[in-house]
Amino acid sequence: MKEMERYTTFPEYCRKTFGHKLFRIALDAGMTCPNRDGTKGYGGCIFCAGGSGDFAVRYEGQKLDLSVLKYIHHPEEPAGYIAYFQAYTNTYAPTERLEYLFTSALQDPLFEGISIATRPDCLDEEVLCVLQKLKQTYPEKFIWIELGLQSIHEDSVVWMRRGYPLDVFDKAVQELKKLDIPVIVHVILGLPGETPQMVLETIRYLNRTGIQGIKLQLLQILEGTDLAEEYRKGKVRELSEEEYISLLTACVAELDPQIVIHRLTGDGNPKILLAPLWSLNKRQVLNHIMQELKTQNIVQGYRYGTSG
Ligand code: SF4
Repeated sequence: MKEMERYTTFPEYCRKTFGHKLFRIALDAGMTCPNRDGTKGYGGCIFCAGGSGDFAVRYEGQKLDLSVLKYIHHPEEPAGYIAYFQAYTNTYAPTERLEYLFTSALQDPLFEGISIATRPDCLDEEVLCVLQKLKQTYPEKFIWIELGLQSIHEDSVVWMRRGYPLDVFDKAVQELKKLDIPVIVHVILGLPGETPQMVLETIRYLNRTGIQGIKLQLLQILEGTDLAEEYRKGKVRELSEEEYISLLTACVAELDPQIVIHRLTGDGNPKILLAPLWSLNKRQVLNHIMQELKTQNIVQGYRYGTSG
C-alpha cells in the first residue's frame, strides 16, 4: 500500500477534486473575537496567541500578487490558492464588511475559493445569508468554514474558556450543511485531563456530524498566553512525541475515511513556541507519524464504527 493512502490527505483530496494541489494563503482581515472583547469573555481561549494569525497577510480586499507573498513556497507542480481568513474570528464584523472582504477574495483570480475560520456562535442568520448569496454568485469558486471545536468535553471546554456549548456547534454545522458549505473542524490533542478515550469520543462524535474536514493538532504552549503561565507554574504538562503519535494514530484509525485530514500536527509560530519543542521539527514528526501508521498497519477509518 502506498503511504499516501493510509489516510485522506488534503493534497490528495485537492488533486482528485481540483486536479492540482491547493495552498492556503493566510489572511488577517483585522477582525477581533467575541471571546476577547468581553462579548463572550475576556482574554480569549487559554491557548490563543492571536487567533493563529501569526503568518497572515494583512488583507483589506486588495488584489493579491503571489510575488509579494514571500513565505509562500512556490511549488514545482501546478497549484492553486485558497484565501484563508485565519486571524481571530472571521465572521465577527458588520455583514457589509464581511460581504466586501469575501467578495473581493472570490473575485481575485488568484484564489479558487475561500476558507473562513470562525466560531460557531458567530454564524447568525445574517452571516449565513451573506454566505448563501456569495455561494450563488460565485458557483465556480468554493466557500469553506473552519470551526475551532477542540473538544466535546465540558471540563475541557471550561478549562480552555472556549465560551460556547456543544449544541451551538451542532446547530452551526446543521445550518452550514443546509447551505452545502463544507465544514473543517479543529481538534486539539493533549488537553489537560483528557484521556485517550475522551479524545476518541470527540472523534466519534464528529464522525456522526457530517463534517468534511478535520485539523488534528497538538496542544502547543505559546509565549504570551495564559496557558504559558499555567505551564510555568507546572499546572500543565506537554505531551511527549511518542504520546502524541500514539494518540494521533488512534484518532486516524477511528476517523470516518470520508473526512479529509488537513493537518496532523501543531502549526504554532516557532518564534513564540515554549513547548513541546520537539514539534518544531515538523518534517521529522510527520515522518514518525507515517512510520507508526505503517508499523501498526493503520489506515484511516480502520476502527470506524467498531465502537461507541
Ligand atoms: S475563538 Fe479563536 S480567536 Fe477567539 S480566543 Fe479562541 S482561539 Fe482565539
